[in-house]
Amino acid sequence: MREVPIIPDIKGIARSTLEFIIEVSRSSAPNEFAGLMRAEEGVIKDVIFLPGTESSQVSAVLRLYMMPNLSIAGSVHSHPSSNNNPSRADLALFARIGDYHIIVGAPYNMRSWRCYNANGHSRVLDVLDIEFDDDEDFDLL
Ligand SMILES: [Zn+2]
Repeated sequence: MREVPIIPDIKGIARSTLEFIIEVSRSSAPNEFAGLMRAEEGVIKDVIFLPGTESSQVSAVLRLYMMPNLSIAGSVHSHPSSNNNPSRADLALFARIGDYHIIVGAPYNMRSWRCYNANGHSRVLDVLDIEFDDDEDFDLL
């Protein structure tokens, strides 16, 4: 059985982090982009690219066994189609880690993403205008 880390209540995602996610999704197309999201003090600020992530047009596979021991709010990945509903594989992933899962679909803008909970149900994720230290925006592990 996996240990379930305690996820603090999430107030939302930093606007700059979301914009980064959308930009990476756009530039990865037609391939998928995938990563994990980390929250600090209840705000999602970090996107973690895992080593060994396989990017393909069919699916992007996160190698969860390589996941560092961090408090992970959930996952993020893109759908190069405009369909941002979770697939069967997505639902299996959502159930395994975190409770906030963003899917960004084409055309990759502030209206073409959705957030889901661990059960795959659409949920609200507020976009927060906050300032934070640029050096710590994004970890590349
Ligand atoms: Zn998907």
